[in-house]
Amino acid sequence: MIKVYLRKKISRRVQDGHPWIFSNEVEKTEGTVTGGEIVQVFAYDKKFIGQGYINPLSQILVRLLTRDKNEVINEEFFYKKILKCWEYRKKLGYTENCRLVFGEADELPQLIIDKFNDHFVLQTLALGIDKWKPAIVNVLNRIFSPKGIFERNDVSVRELEGMKQQKGFLSSPFDTQIIINENARPDDPIGRGLKFYVDIENGQKTGYFLDQQDNRRAIQHIVKGADVLGAFTYTGSFEIHAAHYGAKSVLGFDISENAVQQANRNASLNGLENICRFQTANAFDILKQWSKEGKQLDVVILDPPAFTKSRETIQKAITGYNEINLRGMKLIKPGGFLVTSSCTSLIDANLFLQIIDMAAKDAKRKLRQVTFQTQAPDHPIIRNLENTQYLKFLIVEVQ
Ligand code: SAH
Repeated sequence: MIKVYLRKKISRRVQDGHPWIFSNEVEKTEGTVTGGEIVQVFAYDKKFIGQGYINPLSQILVRLLTRDKNEVINEEFFYKKILKCWEYRKKLGYTENCRLVFGEADELPQLIIDKFNDHFVLQTLALGIDKWKPAIVNVLNRIFSPKGIFERNDVSVRELEGMKQQKGFLSSPFDTQIIINENARPDDPIGRGLKFYVDIENGQKTGYFLDQQDNRRAIQHIVKGADVLGAFTYTGSFEIHAAHYGAKSVLGFDISENAVQQANRNASLNGLENICRFQTANAFDILKQWSKEGKQLDVVILDPPAFTKSRETIQKAITGYNEINLRGMKLIKPGGFLVTSSCTSLIDANLFLQIIDMAAKDAKRKLRQVTFQTQAPDHPIIRNLENTQYLKFLIVEVQ
């Protein structure tokens, strides 16, 4: 097996648990490397650190899969790992729909698997994990006997790994418009939760944002009898929850016509089409126009996409968050609520709160924090492992 030796300065970080090794952190490599193969990694002093997969095309040369020298990486390895992921989700109560595998946070770097009841959506975002796709599909079949498995590898990061973007069935073909049930729990006021169409083939990312599933429940008490504006609604999940929890009127906007169509279908699916409507528009324009017109609402919900993935454009992202939150606050009646999110991982929780405070100062409003949350626990956070904590979700009373 290929042996990779780390530089002295780097060894500590990786020995302490970090799973990534960048190409400039390697002292020497013994053997001829083929992209995607399993290699052994050693510290500068030749102490064994772990086994992982290598890709010389990628800036991240090696991603570790195990710290055990004797562990054999084969289908059984993935079976044990994925079963462990499933046991963890079951223990935490995330069974019907969940992120079954969250990459690095589950020690399965660059592997994402979302479970939508009997259907599974998979992403293999690095060459070294993509090679194991057939084994991973076998494992899903062995554990779950699913109705269908779909690959959503139409993601540009794959190109950095020398792979094509692609999507398609990894099982017999099935109808890729499925319906999921969310938040059907004993504490649901109506008791049956909500239903959503998920477009596994053409929806964004894996089709549905499971990371906000607990946060959607967090709006339950602040929307009763409220007039609600939702911006960046995608398929309307927050807004339809608002209607379900007793809002008087809900209007949602998204720039994607497909998303808006699906959102309106979702409102009807739950019998809430009289309360909850969706329209295609640029949320920046709507927020600007409405605040100019002096419109006043009880609740404003903001859930924009990531504004940047690189440090170079972080200032632009900060300006973007400032703008939408400032305008959102201005639209809220005294005593109303702002529900605001950020999934930009480069903007950490402290920075996000600073941006919100700045926006409040500019809007001349005082904020009282109701809750500050993160992603649901089926997207585990590994302490000190960047990118595993990415979601910020804040509810404030705007006084
Ligand atoms: N709230 C949703 C997720 C939103 S994802 C949920 O919980 O499922 C972000 C959404 O913002 C995407 O649907 C995208 O189409 C939309 N979007 C991006 N730029 C936008 C803009 N300028 N105006 C309105 N919507 C936008």
